[in-house]
Formats: sequence, C-alpha cells, structure tokens
Amino acid sequence: MRDRITFKCSVCGDENYIGTRNKKKHPERMNIKKYCPKCNKMTEHKEKK
Ligand SMILES: [Zn+2]
Repeated sequence: MRDRITFKCSVCGDENYIGTRNKKKHPERMNIKKYCPKCNKMTEHKEKK
C-alpha cells in the first residue's frame, strides 16, 4: 500500500514536496535533500506525519 507523504523543510518549515512511499520497503521516515525556494538553497526535508 502506498501512502501520500509531505516533505517539510527542516529550516523554515515550508511544505515543498509531496510524494508517495511504499511502507513495506521504507517503514522508517525519510529525509531528503531538496531545494527550498524560501531558503533559496538545498535543505534537509523531513517527512511530515
Ligand atoms: Zn526552507
């Protein structure tokens, strides 16, 4: 089953990216490096529950 997840910038808290995750493949929370337009740089984005 696939869950819709939101990725939040860990610096400013903006929700910049939406994706899906396979819970069986990735039971743990995901952190990704993505560009944040508000911070104007690459930041760590954390999965929001
Ligand atoms: Zn940001």
